[in-house]
Amino acid sequence: PPELAAEKWRVLKATFGFDAFRPGQEPVVDALLAGRDVLAVMPTGAGKSLCYQAPALTKGGLAVVVSPLIALMDDQVAGLRLNGVCAEAIHSGRSREDNVASWRRVASGEARFVYMAPERLMTERMLGALGRLPVSLIAIDEAHCISQWGHSFRAEYLTLGRLREALPGAPIAALTATADDGTRADILDKLFGGRAQVFVSGFDRPNIAISVTEKADVGTAIERFVAARPGLSGVIYRISRKKVEETAARLQAAGVRAFAYHAGMEASERAAAQETFLAESGVVMVATVAFGMGIDKSDVRYVLHGDAPGSLEAYYQEIGRAGRDGAPAEALMFYGLEDVRTRRRFIDEQDSDPERKRVEARRLDALVGFCETISCRRQALLAYFGEASGPCGNCDTCLDPPEVVDGTRDARLLLSL
Ligand code: ADP
Ligand code: MG
Ligand code: ZN
Repeated sequence: PPELAAEKWRVLKATFGFDAFRPGQEPVVDALLAGRDVLAVMPTGAGKSLCYQAPALTKGGLAVVVSPLIALMDDQVAGLRLNGVCAEAIHSGRSREDNVASWRRVASGEARFVYMAPERLMTERMLGALGRLPVSLIAIDEAHCISQWGHSFRAEYLTLGRLREALPGAPIAALTATADDGTRADILDKLFGGRAQVFVSGFDRPNIAISVTEKADVGTAIERFVAARPGLSGVIYRISRKKVEETAARLQAAGVRAFAYHAGMEASERAAAQETFLAESGVVMVATVAFGMGIDKSDVRYVLHGDAPGSLEAYYQEIGRAGRDGAPAEALMFYGLEDVRTRRRFIDEQDSDPERKRVEARRLDALVGFCETISCRRQALLAYFGEASGPCGNCDTCLDPPEVVDGTRDARLLLSL
């Protein structure tokens, strides 16, 4: 309806102070305004909160938001209050009096948002009480917590499977940054019995120039790459602690301000390296996958993979640490068949159930497909995450199209693995 459309823009500008929706936000907002259940998949930082907050404010009434962590709830509530919106969190980190006072503001209609953990929401009492209030939207943040496939499974999230029936009046928005297909299907199945509209977007990081190059004398190649970019901050991923140490030592010997970072180091030593990296520019971090979770440094100009990563998810996460400021950045992977063999061996030798091994082997195959592609590298990466796009013009295959003959030869080599 046109009055909702006008109100949606008013909320975006007046309440949030934004001029426009970011890519992918508006279709999710519109689907929720039309009363449909949605699963929205967008990377961290893309703006998932707005996807449910804007339609909730546009429609009026109360929005119930499920979140797995107290800190996340408090952050969201603080953010909404800064924008002049009455929001409450009810959780075990607050006193009983505070929670009661919050609930009063929810019940009186003053509060527009109430945040709580799934175990609090999914009680007969809470569902009954909410059933008597004008609930206009339900949001489930970090929805991948419902999937046993993901790494952050929370058993309490499974009870949310009853939510669709328990509060039938309001559309449900499930939000996650998890790009993996199996996890996504699992969320859809467990929360919505398979029936919800799925939106995937915002995975593109167009300022990162992506390239993959054949691996030969990688130590020298890394040293040259770094030497050609003096004073820039960068991250170099290596497959093992030993290689991390070797590479860091080699760069240090060449006069680069480089630090090693891996799980075998003393925690204090690791923390010191990380702090220096975050505080200064021009520091190069040489690390295993142990490095990077939650790192928010805006001016990382390159991410190098000295060895092939284990999956496209891991690769995407890792290169995503480059160019957060939006300025040009580089992601370069050194890729060799030997790495793929090593990765396959890791999978074979690991002590887990066959299904898990099968999933990991498939993920590795996808990575190999990406490395071997002769069409746009970014298009292949985004397609893996379910996002359609055209050729990017900012990857090695776009800028320097490989000869088809080489591709075929490589593919043959690979099939003989
Ligand atoms: P996510 O949950 O996807 O990781 P958030 O919802 O926390 O991301 O949003 C990340 C940041 O983006 C926040 O600072 C938010 O204010 C900002 N943001 C969201 N939508 C927009 C928009 N349309 N225009 C500008 N900034 C936005
Ligand atoms: Mg979020
Ligand atoms: Zn491209």
